[in-house]
Order: sequence, then C-alpha cells, then structure tokens
Amino acid sequence: MSARIDLHTHSTASDGTLGPAELVRAAADAGLDVVALTDHDTTAGWEPAVAALPTGLTLVRGAELSCRWFGVEPAIPLHLLAYLFDPTEPELAAELARVRRAREERGERIVRLLQADGIRVSWSEILAGAAGGTVGRPHIAQALIRAGLVATTTEAFGPRWLGERYRLPKEDIDVFRAVALVRAAGGVPVFAHPRASRRGRIVPDELIVELAAAGLAGLEADHEDHSPAEREHVRALAAELGLLVTGSSDFHGTHKTVRLGAFTTGAEAYERIVALARGVTPVASG
Ligand code: AMP
Ligand code: ZN
Ligand code: FE
Ligand code: FE
Repeated sequence: MSARIDLHTHSTASDGTLGPAELVRAAADAGLDVVALTDHDTTAGWEPAVAALPTGLTLVRGAELSCRWFGVEPAIPLHLLAYLFDPTEPELAAELARVRRAREERGERIVRLLQADGIRVSWSEILAGAAGGTVGRPHIAQALIRAGLVATTTEAFGPRWLGERYRLPKEDIDVFRAVALVRAAGGVPVFAHPRASRRGRIVPDELIVELAAAGLAGLEADHEDHSPAEREHVRALAAELGLLVTGSSDFHGTHKTVRLGAFTTGAEAYERIVALARGVTPVASG
C-alpha cells in the first residue's frame, strides 16, 4: 500500500480547533503515515506535536506564511507553505513575529469596525478564543456565530461579513522575500492553493515562473478550493517549471468541513521535499 501523506494542516497554534497533540493523534487515527503541521505564521505547535507523536506517524514541521505579491495594485495576498526550516534563523523568526503582531492589530481593527456598526463582539473574547495562537479571521467568525449573526464559518466569510464588508488587509511578507528567507533557513517553499479563485484574486502564472526562478520548490495542486480544471492547470505548470506537486487537506478541525487525508501527496514529491531540506528533519517516533 502506498504511504498516505498530508502536507498541510492547522492546529490551535493558529486557526485550527485541535491542539497540536490532538492533531497528530487524529492524523494517526485517520491512517496517515506522514502529516505536516503548517500553522499560520508560527512554529509554536512543533514541540507539543513532537512530544505527542504516535508510533508509525512521521511529522513534517512546517508553517504557512502570510505573503503578498506587490506586482499589481492593490497587492494580492497569497500563502506560502514552508517545510523543515530552521525555526531559530533570526530573520525569518523576526518576520513571523512581526506578522503575528500585525494580525492582532488588524483583528482588533476589524472588531472596531463591527462595533461601530453596532455589532456586539468583544476583542478580548476573540483573543481568548485564539488561546495564544496566531489570530485569524476564523476566530472572529466564531464570535459572529456566538453572537447569532451567522450560522457557519462559511457564512462569516461571505461578502456581508469578513469576506468583504469587514475585511482588512494584513501586513504580509513580500513573497519574494519569504521564498528567500525560507531557503536561507534551510526550508522548502511550496505555493499553497495557488489557483483558489473562490477565495479571492489569484496571481498570474508569470509570477509563478518568477518565483520558481527565485527558489520556489513546489505547487499545491490537490486542494478543496481548486476545481478539477484548476488542479490540472497547476499540475501542467509545475511540470513545465520542474516544480514538485503536493496535495493536502488544509485541515482546520471544525472550522472547516474537510477531513485529514482528504487530499494527499505522492511519495516521490515528499521525498524531494525531504532531500531539499537543510533546516530540521522529519520526526518519527521510535
Ligand atoms: P486570515 O488569515 O485571518 O486572513 O484568515 C484567512 C483564513 O481563514 C484562511 O487561511 C483559511 O484558513 C480560513 N478561511 C478562508 N476562507 C474561508 C471560508 N470560506 N471558510 C472557512 N475558512 C476560511
Ligand atoms: Zn487557516
Ligand atoms: Fe492557506
Ligand atoms: Fe492553510
């Protein structure tokens, strides 16, 4: 049987609902052989995930970096998965800390916009809901659900709420700088859901060509936010550019409906990631 490899998941260290320890146990229960923990802009979940790693499961330590491409006006936000980088590399660590602080400021500003319209949500309650993890719109979505204003996270991300009316930009990392920082920290950068047009504007293929020349290693093709045609497009582009291709669940616990292992990565692409990495190694419990 071929290995089951899921290279994109979130824990309570960012906007998932399972703690890092619960997440690795759930990954083993879901029959995965390899799981990557890729919380937004943080490595805080790495230690507890390693400590709880079940026998037979390999953990790939990673993160999902909030980036932006400044080649058009207004700039386009995008996500960069980074695998097996050295978390103590000072420039990258400082950049992640800066983004986390900026996320808190932005979250608080979103809450003030809501309050100015008479919507009763509390920033301290939202911060408490994030429990020390990277704050994101999913935490604000939970406050809207608690207030009875929307029924689901999906609805909270609609245009009337966090998707447009109360959407504010974050202070993301320039994507070329992010690729360089991840590489300098010995990590392997992979563009997350590059064609997910249902989430917002997407970048042109010309940017991906430039990123590949700048050190991007791969593209995530199989993802629930990609249609079958979009997946095929990503695969063809990756083949053209010699990039590796991944597939992943982007699991967020109950903040999303997707299950662990819903999409997976082939062993060959996984091995290419491991071979390229110079920061930290995958961890397997003995
Ligand atoms: P933020 O990082 O604060 O801008 O929030 C964006 C995050 O919210 C994404 O990384 C996803 O994890 C999540 N998200 C985006 N769109 C949706 C959606 N329609 N439903 C549920 N979660 C979403
Ligand atoms: Zn998320
Ligand atoms: Fe993402
Ligand atoms: Fe994600």
